[in-house]
Amino acid sequence: MAKRILVLDTTLRDGEQTPGVSLTPEQKLDIAKALDDLGVDYIEAGSAITSEGERESIKKIAGEGLKAEVLSFARLLEKDVNLAMECGVDGIFLVAPTSDLHIKYKLGSTREKVLEMVEKLTGYCKDAGLKVDVCCEDGSRTSPEFLMKVLKTAEKAKADRFTVADTVGALTPGRMSDLIKPLAKKARIPVGVHCHDDLGMATANTVAAVRSGAAIVNVTVNGLGERAGNASLEEVVMALKTVYGYRLNVKTEKLYGISDKVEKITGVPVPPNKAIVGENAFTHEAGIHVDGILKRPDTYELLKPESVGAKRTFVLGKHVGMKSVKRMLDELDIKAGEQHLEEIFKQVKYIGDKGKRVTNVDLETIAQHVMGIEKKQHIRLEELVTVAGNKFTPTASVKLKINGGDVVESSTGTGPVDAAINAIRKATKNVPFELLEYHVDAISGGSDAIVKIMVKLKSKDRIVTAQGAGADIVLASVDAMVNGINSIMARMK
Ligand code: MN
Repeated sequence: MAKRILVLDTTLRDGEQTPGVSLTPEQKLDIAKALDDLGVDYIEAGSAITSEGERESIKKIAGEGLKAEVLSFARLLEKDVNLAMECGVDGIFLVAPTSDLHIKYKLGSTREKVLEMVEKLTGYCKDAGLKVDVCCEDGSRTSPEFLMKVLKTAEKAKADRFTVADTVGALTPGRMSDLIKPLAKKARIPVGVHCHDDLGMATANTVAAVRSGAAIVNVTVNGLGERAGNASLEEVVMALKTVYGYRLNVKTEKLYGISDKVEKITGVPVPPNKAIVGENAFTHEAGIHVDGILKRPDTYELLKPESVGAKRTFVLGKHVGMKSVKRMLDELDIKAGEQHLEEIFKQVKYIGDKGKRVTNVDLETIAQHVMGIEKKQHIRLEELVTVAGNKFTPTASVKLKINGGDVVESSTGTGPVDAAINAIRKATKNVPFELLEYHVDAISGGSDAIVKIMVKLKSKDRIVTAQGAGADIVLASVDAMVNGINSIMARMK
């Protein structure tokens, strides 16, 4: 039977140390519950010494009755441990600086003293009935002999787990193996690794450590974390599971959902080309690929999108094949004859050559144009007025022509764009849709830049992507919304 690998998620501790990220206790609890639901084994909820707010977060998470063991980070100091204990955690992630660099310049101490502290603090935690994970900070730049001494000291003091941190992301998979193998061989307690992505190798190093005998992986959702981030939960889990068949408690079909939640709460965008959870991870554009996928998905997909809770999508660009155009037209319920199809195909290629992507709404417009169908305007913007500034609550009023009748609505918002979109939503409350995404791109430089707005609207099972562009960001946003709603309304009856 394949070995069971334990997952320690540190999104709420190391992940929150991502530059620019700071979470409220409610947000941290929300993420902790999602992590528990996902099935991670340990949640490092924060560092109790940090602040009153942080302790409130840890307390909330520890008191939630989660299945996962809840941990607090602590230095080799009784006051750190005491504060963590007051929060009601199950265990301590006890961090001991072990490299000579850290011992000498950060602690101003000696190896002997560090060993003493590890023994003392581990004992202190154990006496208090806590689980203890002794983590060697800057472990990757620590002499192997000293790492072994720390391991044996931790074991003697009855630590439950031992972790080696590649704090500055200095390792490669080969070096990680050399470091972990002897430790895992001699360890009587599970060995964990904590990797950073400074050389882009956090996932590879984590997997290498597991192949060399480590049993616990420290990860974060979306690879958040200090500087270049930590090993990403989704990447490590999928690599261990699908390549090697290790057993993990993580419900992989929830990975996309938790990535999305963390992206929204932290405000750190997931790059489109991010493995597993990036917007492009299951998006296909090239013609030959789409043809293959339609015949048999595994021709060009390593993972099934549904296995991580994602969806396969196709976009049209310059690499597009006729089959993809046809497929997207089918989805739009547009039946084009062969001649029309060829012309539509030509126009999509032309736009693709200009470096642009063709969305489903664009394709609909092209097809309608080519096929000589007058695109029915279900909804049209007649008037837009916005007021904003530091002395006003941003307010917008819109006059829309909806199926021939005038509808006037107004609304406030966090800014003029939000106010205008809110006013449109009020005016179109009979159209069922949800705004999934809103993107702004400045096409040219300067404050007079042309902006391109992309909105993604969801109506029942359909997702409509529409665009608006212009020098006025509010007007361009409203245009994008109106285009999208028009497309939804066209298919409503
Ligand atoms: Mn770290």
